[in-house]
Amino acid sequence: MKIVIVGAGIAGLSSYLLLRKHLPNPPLPTEQHEIIVYESHESINKLNPHDTDTGITLGATLGVMPNGLKVLQRLDEELVHDIVRNGHVVTHMRLKNSRGWTLAEMRNAGDQQPPLNCVMIQRQTFWSLIRARVPSDVLVNKKVSGVETRTEGGVTVRFADDSPDVVADLVIGADGLKSVVRKSLFKDEREDLCSPHFSGLLGVEGRIPSTLIREECPDGIACMVFGHNGFMGYSYDTTAEDAENRHLPSSAHQPGEEGFWWSTHETTEHENWLSVDIEATERELHERLGEWKDPAVQKILQSAEIKRLYPTYTTPILPTWHRGSAVLVGDAAHTLHSTSGQGSSQALEDVEALSSLLSHYLQTAYTASNRAQAPTETEAIGISAKLYENIRMPRIKHIVDSVAVQVNQKRTVSVPVSWVRYFFLWFIGKLGFMDNQAKFILDYDTQTEVEKAIKSYEETKT
Ligand SMILES: Cc1cc2nc3c(=O)[nH]c(=O)nc-3n(C[C@H](O)[C@H](O)[C@H](O)COP(=O)(O)OP(=O)(O)OC[C@H]3O[C@@H](n4cnc5c(N)ncnc54)[C@H](O)[C@@H]3O)c2cc1C
Repeated sequence: MKIVIVGAGIAGLSSYLLLRKHLPNPPLPTEQHEIIVYESHESINKLNPHDTDTGITLGATLGVMPNGLKVLQRLDEELVHDIVRNGHVVTHMRLKNSRGWTLAEMRNAGDQQPPLNCVMIQRQTFWSLIRARVPSDVLVNKKVSGVETRTEGGVTVRFADDSPDVVADLVIGADGLKSVVRKSLFKDEREDLCSPHFSGLLGVEGRIPSTLIREECPDGIACMVFGHNGFMGYSYDTTAEDAENRHLPSSAHQPGEEGFWWSTHETTEHENWLSVDIEATERELHERLGEWKDPAVQKILQSAEIKRLYPTYTTPILPTWHRGSAVLVGDAAHTLHSTSGQGSSQALEDVEALSSLLSHYLQTAYTASNRAQAPTETEAIGISAKLYENIRMPRIKHIVDSVAVQVNQKRTVSVPVSWVRYFFLWFIGKLGFMDNQAKFILDYDTQTEVEKAIKSYEETKT
């Protein structure tokens, strides 16, 4: 089979690695599967994980959650060790108000033993650790302009540079928020299914020496401070060189030299965000948060220099994530609000589910003793895509619903309403509601869901 992956972000690169690891080869003399990844960004071969200035990825730091790490652990345990060494294990989120009072503390691990905790890591570092495991000769620096499913089977892939089309047996659309694969699949339907939606929040991020926040932010904690007129978070995304077992995600380690902060506020300006005046935004940040009493926020403000600025977008829930042999994964299928902290972990769950299903049904296609009843490769892709969607869509809908509440905590409100909000956070923290909600998301196991889906599909056939 010829498999084309569009996009070499987290979803595209991990699709390549998971397919290469799990796909069974067709019986001889048929040729082995060919997998090729097309990426439009020219820094595709930029491999230094510490060179984070002009990277392929947007935004400074992200949290890889335990459910995402579990996928990577099954793929390559050494990759997880590299991620932990190059990031910072965050065992708890501490929610505070602008007066500096702690309202609640939320665990960042599920029930797995030894614990798998969230790892904060710079986006470019995370990307390049995965990229380093993908051979360069399967990556092609080319922009895809569209795809078309063929009635006779397969998918035609077109390119922006007018080079000849490619026909693939399977196309995986991993091309992110502005996915052209999604646009091609839904071009005859409602326009709003294809376009990103601005959430109304603009995010800014900056870097700080970790010593600046050591007093207020213990090892392994990410502080999230809510005020009536905005939000600021701060934590670490590096680990000390001499920390013991610094490759293990089971416990917190001493931070390295750097930490980071991030803040969001409501705005209507997002169309021309690349030309936003950074100095004016810094001044505005001082004006908004200058009265806050949280000591770390005040220290950060004294030296705050905005390094990255991003409007936060989401995409609507699509009616389907596949058409013919073209399947969407990661942000191309569902761009979650960045507040969920689940974007990359959900992309990883997607690609593990899809690659496991494909492996199972291709294995059946190649080895069934009764050839007449065995699915063809095209049928195996169709069944896998359908089951993938059945497993993944309800999970994504659940996360979208729960994140809507979190996003509202970051919106501007009057001072009295902010006190109601603080009480609400304190109260649900006391009830343990946040830990239960988090466990539901973090304890998810893609392999168990895949096995259940295969079993129930086989039962409906008999
Ligand atoms: C500010 C911010 C903060 C975030 N914080 C977190 C967090 O804390 N935790 C978390 O898990 N997630 C977070 N996310 C989300 C996370 O980064 C994404 O969900 C994750 O990277 C999914 O990646 P992806 O591979 O699906 O898409 P992308 O990373 O967007 O990759 C898509 C790739 O496709 C390429 N491409 C696009 N169009 C074409 C084309 N036509 N032809 C060829 N190639 C193309 C792009 O260049 C890109 O390399 C955050 C996102 C943002 C914006």
